[in-house]
Amino acid sequence: MIPFADLTLLHTSIQDKIDAALTQVIQTSNFIGGEIVTQFEKEFASYIGIKHCIGCANGTDSIEILLQTLEIGKGDEVLVPAISWIATSEAVSSVGATPIFVDVNPEFYTIDVSKIEVAITSKTKAIIPVHLYGQAADMDAILSIANKYDLYIIEDCAQAHGAEYKGKKVGTIGTCASFSFFPGKNLGAFGDAGCLVTNNETIAEKSRMIANHGQKGKHNHIIEGRNSRLDTLHAAILSVKLPYLDTWNALRIEAAAKYSKLLTNSPIQIPHILPNTSHVFHLYVIQTQQRTALQNALTQQQIQTAIHYPTALPFLPCYSEKNYSEKDFPIAFAMQQKILSLPLFPGISDAQIEEVCKTILATL
Ligand SMILES: *Cc1c(COP(=O)(O)O)cnc(C)c1O
Repeated sequence: MIPFADLTLLHTSIQDKIDAALTQVIQTSNFIGGEIVTQFEKEFASYIGIKHCIGCANGTDSIEILLQTLEIGKGDEVLVPAISWIATSEAVSSVGATPIFVDVNPEFYTIDVSKIEVAITSKTKAIIPVHLYGQAADMDAILSIANKYDLYIIEDCAQAHGAEYKGKKVGTIGTCASFSFFPGKNLGAFGDAGCLVTNNETIAEKSRMIANHGQKGKHNHIIEGRNSRLDTLHAAILSVKLPYLDTWNALRIEAAAKYSKLLTNSPIQIPHILPNTSHVFHLYVIQTQQRTALQNALTQQQIQTAIHYPTALPFLPCYSEKNYSEKDFPIAFAMQQKILSLPLFPGISDAQIEEVCKTILATL
C-alpha cells in the first residue's frame, strides 16, 4: 500500500522531543497562552522574517480575524481565487462581506492576475491570494493592482509554509497573512491551530485583541472580540517541529522533482513552477483527461490519491444561488474534472514514487 500521506513517519522520527515537549506542558500546567505560546510565535515570526506572529485557533479564524481587523464587513467585496479550500471564501462571508471569485491561471493553478482588474468595483476592499498547493501566487502583479486600487492583500499561506517568492517568504509580501497548522499541512499541530503574521504594528495589536476577547490586559475589554487562541499544547509541538520544516520541505521538493522527471513524457500535465519561486509541494497535482480511469487503476494497485478539490468554489452548493456557470470560470471548471493529487510526503521512498509512475504510464 502507498498512502497519500504519512504523518506517523514524521512524528516517530522526533518522538523523544515531542514527549519532552508534552511533559513540559504538563509540568507548567499552563494550557492557554503563556511562555510556550509566546516562544513559538517568536520562532515562527523569525523563521518567516516578519515582525509579528499571533497564534490563533485555526487557519480559518486567522483569515476572519484579519478581515475584522481591517474593518471589512457588510457591503464590502473581497477577491478570492476560484480554486482554494472553502475556508478562504467562507471567512469573507463570515464577516458579512461578499467573496468575489476570480478564475485561476491554467499553468500555475493560482489566481489569474490578468482577471483581477475586471473583478474590482467601488466595493472591493481586499484581495486574498492563495499560495495553492505550496506555490506562491504572482505577487508582483497582485501588489501593483492592490496599490493602484488601494486594496489590502491578505495572503492565505495555509498550504505554503516556507515557500518563497523572489527570495521572500510568502506571508511577508502582502498587508498581512494567515497560516494554518492543521495536522496535514507542511507544518502541522496535533489538532486545529493557526496564526496570522504582519509587519504592521496596528494590525498586529488589534488582531491579538480580537483573538482574545478584545482584551488589552486582563479584564480590560476594549472591543468585543472572540475566543480564538493557539493552545499551549499545540505551540509546544509546533516549536519542536519548526526546526525540521526546511528539511521536510526539501524532501517534498525532491519527491516532486522525481515525479516530474519520471512523468515528463507521459500524456499527463505535471505541475509547473512559477519562475523565481520555490514551490514547497504541499500537494503534487497533475491534470489528466482520464482522471477516473487513472484513479481507479491506482486504487487497484493500492495507491492512494485525492482530489483538491472535486468542485471549484463557485460551483459548490453553498454558492448555488449565484448561478455561476462554466463560462464564468472556464479554467476552474475544466480543472476540477482533471486534477489529481498523487501521494507525496516527507519520507516517501524513490521505490514508492517509481511504483506510482509505473502504474500511471501503464494506464495512459
Ligand atoms: C487548510 C486551509 C485553510 C484553513 O485552515 P484551517 O486551519 O483548517 O481552518 C485556509 N486556506 C487554505 C487554502 C487551506 O488549505
